[in-house]
Amino acid sequence: MAIKPKHPCSHPGCAALVDKGKCPEHSKQDAKRYDNQRGSAHQRGYTARWARYSKWFIRQPENVFCKLQLPGCTNLTGCVDHIQPCPPTDPLFWSPANHQGACIHCNSVKGKRYIVGEGKPFEAGMRRV
Ligand SMILES: [Zn+2]
Ligand SMILES: [Zn+2]
Repeated sequence: MAIKPKHPCSHPGCAALVDKGKCPEHSKQDAKRYDNQRGSAHQRGYTARWARYSKWFIRQPENVFCKLQLPGCTNLTGCVDHIQPCPPTDPLFWSPANHQGACIHCNSVKGKRYIVGEGKPFEAGMRRV
């Protein structure tokens, strides 16, 4: 079996050797850019009303710690996570029963999984995939 030669990361100026595509650091940056292309926060339903609500929500003692606890979790709740991911037009979007505290990291990991359609949406209390 031939050993596949490694290639430099396709990001201009990056010398990291990878099997193909980009090094983990630059793939991450691409993912971020993709995130920005999803539309502004406002378009996704995260309005001033939502900002006020989440500020209040993450200060509640029972919501201080991230409920998702995915690998890399920072533990401290930084945003409101939708247990059942849903569009802002869905009544579930505003239903407190569908809200839980999550750190920004876990929320974005979960959000990405949902958007790219990997696996099924999370269920409450699920710890890891
Ligand atoms: Zn790179
Ligand atoms: Zn977390």
